[in-house]
Amino acid sequence: MQSTMQDVPLTVARILAHGARIHGSAQVTTWTGDGAPQRRSFAEVGGRATQLAHALRTLGVAEGEPVATLMWNNAEHVEAYLAVPSMGAVLHTLNLRLPPEQLVWIVRHAADRVVLVNGSLLPLLAPLLPHLDCVEHVVVSGPGDRSALAGVRPQVHEYEDLVAGHPADHYPWPELDERQAAALCYTSGTTGDPKGVVYSHRSIYLHAMEVNAAASFGLTPAEVCLPVVPMFHVNAWGLPHAAFMAGTSLLMPDRFLQPAPLADMIESERPTVSAGVPTIWQGLLAELDARPRDMTSLRTVISGGSACPPSLMKAFEERHGLTLVQAWGMTETSPLGSVAFPPAGLSGEEAWPYRITQGRMPASVEARLVGPGGDVLPWDGRSAGELEVRGPWIAAAYHGGADGEPHRPEDKFSGDGWLRTGDVGTICPEGFLTLTDRAKDVIKSGGEWISSVELENHLMAHPEVAEAAVVAVPDEKWGERPLAVVVLKDDSAVGYEGLRAFLGERVARWQLPERWSLVATVPKTSVGKFDKKALRRSYADGELVVTTLG
Ligand code: AMP
Repeated sequence: MQSTMQDVPLTVARILAHGARIHGSAQVTTWTGDGAPQRRSFAEVGGRATQLAHALRTLGVAEGEPVATLMWNNAEHVEAYLAVPSMGAVLHTLNLRLPPEQLVWIVRHAADRVVLVNGSLLPLLAPLLPHLDCVEHVVVSGPGDRSALAGVRPQVHEYEDLVAGHPADHYPWPELDERQAAALCYTSGTTGDPKGVVYSHRSIYLHAMEVNAAASFGLTPAEVCLPVVPMFHVNAWGLPHAAFMAGTSLLMPDRFLQPAPLADMIESERPTVSAGVPTIWQGLLAELDARPRDMTSLRTVISGGSACPPSLMKAFEERHGLTLVQAWGMTETSPLGSVAFPPAGLSGEEAWPYRITQGRMPASVEARLVGPGGDVLPWDGRSAGELEVRGPWIAAAYHGGADGEPHRPEDKFSGDGWLRTGDVGTICPEGFLTLTDRAKDVIKSGGEWISSVELENHLMAHPEVAEAAVVAVPDEKWGERPLAVVVLKDDSAVGYEGLRAFLGERVARWQLPERWSLVATVPKTSVGKFDKKALRRSYADGELVVTTLG
């Protein structure tokens, strides 16, 4: 029997049309620092996205072609998010925190011809242009000195001039196949060259529906969402698309991502949902402890991108009445992979053991744990293996291998097509995932595995510790042992012995680090996670001052 249902493509153009029409009065508010915030309705943003599509067509942008953005979280970036895929081109968000040589590599690999850039980021882009032969057009929006672009080879356009005069109410949107490329994002590339993940219209659409599901982030027209996660990090976790679908107003922080302006904008604009990496929330906590602000508008604060220390979740709840919800995902998973809401009926103390896990997968994401020998492990809460996932918004390959075709490296994709996440953990019988480490961060000590995340979580629960990262370092006797790298709070008097005694009450003796290093700050990756590769390198190069306890 054949299905009798219509087969309507799930496209970003649908999301644009729906948000602009049905939720036209919802708002995209962009923070401007000291000045009045910039406010645009979804109807205006939709109209301007339509104008942008016309403008990009005048630059010769063709179907399937990437259009790069080097932009903060702001209304113009939302316009590009909607316009570029809707016209059949591919939105390529560039991570503005990558080292210059990686940015050059990525732009050349993607062969970007058009780059949309914020004026404040011209000092970053301009010096790269001589190395970017593929770039023909630079389109600048927002404040910032333009002089860095004097005499550059590509044509320079002002965003506002380029879109002005084009119709805001119609565009010949092409009939797209929902499996066509819509957006391109390169992984942060901690090992080897960055890898491009190409999202389809279908994957973005389905992912946005899941973000809006009540079991996930449950966005509604009554809400205001503050994506602190940058728009170059996995499509801002799908929040702009989800917001346009649900009619949820967006509060965009632009380049004001420091704890003080974040606290100010939350107090004055009253978002109900926010999302970012734990280091952002760690910074906000310290800011609020020092100078409290009214945070009562926030019903949910989503923490993802790296393990959220339970002590951070508890501190937010106890000291500021804020609920942090942990989610797990990757560039390859669009990113929503799991969310940690407790099982029905549990609250308070009973809920904590579940809330501090990485959570449960939504229906569209299937998970399995694979042991070192390739065997699929039981969900018993004890058997630890590498997490593999599959689903309609999970990558099946990377963009452009040596022959230009998508490629599927064996260490990233199983023979039967599942994504090898590189994350190691357990799953309990109720389906809650607990990650103990990245496979490459696990500390292999004398045949036993030590979880760096567990040690970090305990250390960060110490009242005098601001940040703590634990990495494996070579050890003659044990193969590897943990090195604890700690940032103490300003007035701290606790020494290594004190920290070790604190840990000793919480983990087995053989797991206690002998090597300790105090630093002013833990190095972070381009998306704000602890950069363990950099720490291991600093240790190997003898740059860290290390104390060894007997
Ligand atoms: P990226 O693609 O750069 O966002 O990195 C994805 C990786 O971040 C995952 O494979 C995990 O190792 C890590 N990650 C993301 N969310 C979490 C989380 N809630 N807990 C622990 N690790 C996480």
